[in-house]
Amino acid sequence: MFEYAPAPESRDVVDIQPSYGLFIDGEFTDGSGAPIKTVNPATEETLAEVATATDADVDRAVRAARKAFGTWSALPGSERAKYLFRIARIIQERSRELAVLETLDNGKPIRESRDVDLPLVAAHFFYYAGWADKLAHAGYGPDPRPLGVAGQVIPWNFPLLMLAWKVAPALACGNTVVLKPAETTPLSALLFADICRQAELPPGVVNIVTGAGETGAAVVNHPDVDKVAFTGSTEVGRLIARSVAGTGKKLTLELGGKAANIVFDDAAIDQAVEGIVDGIFFNQGHVCCAGSRLLVQESVAGDLLEALKTRLGRLRLGDPMDKNTDIGAINSEVQLARVRELSDIGEAEGAERWSPPCELPSRGFWFPPTIFTGVAQSHRIARDEVFGPVLAMLTFRTPAEAVEKANNTPYGLSAGVWTEKGSRILWMADRLRAGVVWANTFNKFDPTSPFGGYKESGYGREGGRHGLEAYLDV
Ligand code: NAD
Repeated sequence: MFEYAPAPESRDVVDIQPSYGLFIDGEFTDGSGAPIKTVNPATEETLAEVATATDADVDRAVRAARKAFGTWSALPGSERAKYLFRIARIIQERSRELAVLETLDNGKPIRESRDVDLPLVAAHFFYYAGWADKLAHAGYGPDPRPLGVAGQVIPWNFPLLMLAWKVAPALACGNTVVLKPAETTPLSALLFADICRQAELPPGVVNIVTGAGETGAAVVNHPDVDKVAFTGSTEVGRLIARSVAGTGKKLTLELGGKAANIVFDDAAIDQAVEGIVDGIFFNQGHVCCAGSRLLVQESVAGDLLEALKTRLGRLRLGDPMDKNTDIGAINSEVQLARVRELSDIGEAEGAERWSPPCELPSRGFWFPPTIFTGVAQSHRIARDEVFGPVLAMLTFRTPAEAVEKANNTPYGLSAGVWTEKGSRILWMADRLRAGVVWANTFNKFDPTSPFGGYKESGYGREGGRHGLEAYLDV
């Protein structure tokens, strides 16, 4: 259904400017704070300087969004749909540029940004464009209303896709937006701002403010923001929940995870190995729903581990711009330090660490695909979100034990079940405390499906019809 651009081979397809401003009221404008450098994590080369929005800049953005809200929300849904369809088509047309920029700024393999992120980004805009004139039939009453100005703060792991998850439904429902991308990956959001201009989206409907956590806090705490949508760490999610409490603002939180990928003895082992590898090594494990805990039924644990090691030996780590690369760079020095620290703790606590022989590039931020065995549930490697290419393997004997171990986490975002028995899939899905349970597959996304967590993984749903609820007053 969606057109794929030809393989990007070179960074020449994207014109990166030396410095970028904020996008407010349809114009690029200076920020008042000290600019931040954004680097290519695969080379440590500075890509650009990006403005920092202060409280005063965020105030300008919120005022612009408020001013635009009146006319945008009063447009017939069919008119808003036209803008969203136009944005979706431009994203497809410029997908090569966007994919290359995303890979340079984030470090993810070009094959992933080109074949996974970008098609999904376009698909979300197409999907929510389709809802814009059908809100009366969405199941939220005959006349659901937009909330107003949405303040949206997103992380660095899927910069453009997280933007799409938030901006597309907000706009379809008639809200206007002030979005803050992560400080290590601001560039694709700024290119998206250019796409909004190209689509002739009315000024102020989308505003992009860049900067670090302080800028995010300014968006969240601005008194004229009606709705806060946050994706990021559970730690920051907690802070935001506290600061929003009592203000009357609506809040949705998409936070961390520590998903279990559960393999039964009757599973198709080769297929499971592919799913396990995809589950934890896709996007270097920088995935909130990553299958970071592998639970294997004891009788097949030895065979599965051998097959997994063989498969890991064939993964290619290196230049993210190379179309054959499977594992790209860790997004930042800070994140690399966290992955190293938790892995060192894993070893110190007595788990056994294994990586295939793998030469890491001399510059940039890199970590090899890693498996921990001999892991106890009390080990931090089994409990903390590493957010890197690190898998903790545990075993179980019975389905009940698998459920007990899978649910033994403060998180509840996703889980995977590998078995040939359909009845067992349903039995497990009923008992796993996770927002999504994949069966005989992993990391499958579609704009028609709601996504979100239980427990400390957050609340609210993004995607699908349920994703509209976050941006409507019923
Ligand atoms: P983070 O919480 O450090 O930062 C996320 C965003 O919040 C960034 O834009 C950051 O600048 C901003 N921020 C930081 N402090 C803030 C504050 N006090 N107030 C407002 N904004 C603030 O997270 P991260 O390291 O960028 O992302 C990794 C985390 O995101 C992981 O825990 C991961 O699981 C989670 N995540 C969750 C989902 C999901 O859908 N559940 C998706 C992707 C990532």
